[in-house]
Amino acid sequence: TDYLASTLNAPETATEAALRPLSFADFTGQPKTVERLQVMVGAARRRGDALNHILLSGPPGLGKTTLSFILGYELGKNVRVTSGPVVEKASDLAGLLTSLEEGDLLFIDEIHRIPKTVEEYLYTAMEDFRLDIMIDQGPNARSVRLSIPRFTLVGATTRAGLLTAPLRSRFTLQTRLDYYNTKTLMGIVRRSCGLLGVEIDEAGAREIAARCRGTPRIANNLINFVRDYAQERADGKITKEVASRALELLEIDARGLDEMDKRMMRVMAENYKGGPVGLGTVAIAVGEEADTLEEVHEPFLIQEGYLQRTQQGRVLTAKAYQALGLKGFADQGD
Ligand code: ADP
Repeated sequence: TDYLASTLNAPETATEAALRPLSFADFTGQPKTVERLQVMVGAARRRGDALNHILLSGPPGLGKTTLSFILGYELGKNVRVTSGPVVEKASDLAGLLTSLEEGDLLFIDEIHRIPKTVEEYLYTAMEDFRLDIMIDQGPNARSVRLSIPRFTLVGATTRAGLLTAPLRSRFTLQTRLDYYNTKTLMGIVRRSCGLLGVEIDEAGAREIAARCRGTPRIANNLINFVRDYAQERADGKITKEVASRALELLEIDARGLDEMDKRMMRVMAENYKGGPVGLGTVAIAVGEEADTLEEVHEPFLIQEGYLQRTQQGRVLTAKAYQALGLKGFADQGD
């Protein structure tokens, strides 16, 4: 299965947990989102109110979970963590909400996957801090009203477009996380290496930063491998040379593209003349789930200008042909 998807979807390891920034001061990048959150936290604290509901969207590994913990830390409140598909029934939601204390945060990852039947209960919970739960059936059926503490829902999603309009409209702030630039990532790489006690020079940090697809989670994951490589195949220090050899061994190229990215692009170029072609078709051809391609691979390929989304389907760009070392874009029509 896909190395990248499994890296991004794996449960957090102890090492990763140790690298998580705990406060805004510790968190670099995402300046717009951070300022929006800081404004809301400041205002909530000044008024002694619960924070308004927040929706964080963006590709996996960019810091949505991290930011929700930072919100809890900055407000001095607890963060309960769950995920859309886990909240199967209204009673699951009731259990979660009634266990919260005033001002606590409930983080729901993959909120676009929450079942529709549960989603409706979320509306009154978010708006009026109450739940109207139906108990019993038939002639005995009746609705029971539960009051719940004023809480903050922090929803996270890789697919903001899949949220229903009524759910989306109940978030006061909807903010999107972007891929990180190389300079910011270099800072993150050096910070992680510092915490892990790994020696790395400037060029080594740049090498990892440039090849982690703009994603801190991948950067941290690569550091772990490069660190092992440095120990086994060099003198323990991460230099440009060491990082570069280690990443080649993982088949991550100088642009951060991995094997699956390249297979997708190659299939599109060779079998479909560069498109337009549907993502489902590409998924079958490369033997991967369409969802994985859409959530993990495609956003990066689009951001970097290898791929475009059109009404008719996905289209490869000239840059993709160059990256694959295939005959030029202009020659494709022959
Ligand atoms: P998401 O919830 O968006 O999938 P996470 O919040 O779980 O992403 O972040 C993945 C990992 O990346 C975390 O373990 C964290 O250590 C690291 N990370 C994310 N954003 C940053 C950042 N701005 N600075 C440093 N590390 C970060």
